[in-house]
Amino acid sequence: MAVTLDAQLLEVLACPAADHAPLRPGTPDDPDADALTCTSCGRVYEVRDGIPVLLLDEADLPDTDSDGGDQRAKDEPDGA
Ligand SMILES: [Zn+2]
Repeated sequence: MAVTLDAQLLEVLACPAADHAPLRPGTPDDPDADALTCTSCGRVYEVRDGIPVLLLDEADLPDTDSDGGDQRAKDEPDGA
């Protein structure tokens, strides 16, 4: 199920980490996931019952081990 947060709410929400960057719905792997992803640090925040859990302790850090650990955009096609 996709996150159905109000666009206006999304605008005021920000990552609780030092970057305070905007969040976007879904995760890098699953745009329809019930989660919000920081556009800066890549932390993934779960959305429970429609409420984003914006806690650093609860956030999933991006998996930097499997893809070399760089910050390259994952949205670009690989040209496979
Ligand atoms: Zn962040």
